[in-house]
Amino acid sequence: DAFIVKVSQAKALNAFLVETPEHAIAAATAADTAREAGETLKPLAGVPIGMKDLFCTKGVTTTAASHILEGFTPTYESTVSQNLWDAGAGMLGKLNMDQFAMGSSNETSAFGNVISPWKRNGGGNASLAPGGSSGGSSSAVAARLCPGATGTDTGGSIRQPAAFTGISGIKPTYGRCSRWGTIAFASSLDQAGPMARDVKDCAILLEAMAGFDAKDGTSLQLDVPKWEAVLSANLNGLRVGIPKEYRVDGMPEEIEALWQQGIDWLKDAGATIVEVSLPHTKYALPAYYIIAPAEASSNLARYDGVRYGIRDLPTGAGLQDMYAATRADGFGPEVKRRIMIGTYVLSAGFYDAYYTQAQKVRTLIARDFERAWETCDVLLTPTAPSAAFGLGEKVDPISMYMNDVFTVPSSLAGLPAMSVPGGLDKQGLPLGLQIIGKPLDEQGVLNAGLAIE
Ligand code: GLN
Repeated sequence: DAFIVKVSQAKALNAFLVETPEHAIAAATAADTAREAGETLKPLAGVPIGMKDLFCTKGVTTTAASHILEGFTPTYESTVSQNLWDAGAGMLGKLNMDQFAMGSSNETSAFGNVISPWKRNGGGNASLAPGGSSGGSSSAVAARLCPGATGTDTGGSIRQPAAFTGISGIKPTYGRCSRWGTIAFASSLDQAGPMARDVKDCAILLEAMAGFDAKDGTSLQLDVPKWEAVLSANLNGLRVGIPKEYRVDGMPEEIEALWQQGIDWLKDAGATIVEVSLPHTKYALPAYYIIAPAEASSNLARYDGVRYGIRDLPTGAGLQDMYAATRADGFGPEVKRRIMIGTYVLSAGFYDAYYTQAQKVRTLIARDFERAWETCDVLLTPTAPSAAFGLGEKVDPISMYMNDVFTVPSSLAGLPAMSVPGGLDKQGLPLGLQIIGKPLDEQGVLNAGLAIE
């Protein structure tokens, strides 16, 4: 009952920024034609996908949910979206998100909040956050507006919204999905991935999205494994690590209970459980909130009113004034905060104290994981420290950042990580469990996810 599925209420979720039914219909028609001609159907023949508005789509407005890109229509297609179309999928529309993928609740969008289809038991009509930054994706998939959607994950933006809305989402190993044509936030962290109702659908979608791309210098030159074909919930021989540092102070009892439940499910599937230590975990969040804004401040320098989107040109103004006016008007407050932090930590006087230090911490975090892989094959943790919170409930940016505490470490290490639904809390809201894998071991992650769902 907590769940809206009525089509009449779909629009109220504000999940889509642009609707492109003609694109989806063309894919469906092509699938029909192929079927009638007796041809072998493509893996995603006719499947209507929602595209996060961070992916450039040729001829279709792409804004990253920022006013500064209003009216920007790319003349090219991102590699990830092209891969999906090549696999037979069609686009239902562009999905709302946190502005430039900065946020954990979708509230930084310049085009209004996305609403989660979930409600608290007895909570009346109070609207809940769908998580972020891929909040349009999570809300649309959870409300069954589309069977799958693309997301991007820099520090948790696929996994946390999946957890908040009771769906599955996987961030593959850094480099599996091309970043070409995806609007950049923090290039050393950004990874695309699918969000769908279950693990199997995630595997199918990821197979289509991933693959080497010469246009992205960090793209992995590897074939895409057939994850779905060998998906198995038999975990005999799998060693699951439980990182003790993720047992943070003040963790709600329900999250503890969920974690224990997940451990039991994996044991039932044949896995053995080992305790592991990731000693630098507590430094991951502060390091992330230096590195990600640093890269963002550099990536976002291109929005100057000359090349894309809006241009504010006050009468009699010079070039500098145009830059300033455009950026002041075009970027939202959270984006400006990140640019300010980023330029500060990269400035000559502070570079070593902040940026270099954060990079060192990043290396220590990656080493923690490498050491853990000596005794286990995957890690199991909660995805987020709480269930979905209400819209407008978290006003302090630090408390918002704290929501990423469990998702950020694996991002810094470039590891594959997935969130799968683990159950409901006392208020009837979904909670997610996270599985983190070794580099390139999406299969191990998906299999453990399958054993949980
Ligand atoms: N919530 C995190 C941030 O705001 C992560 C966002 C993301 O993964 N794109 O930076």
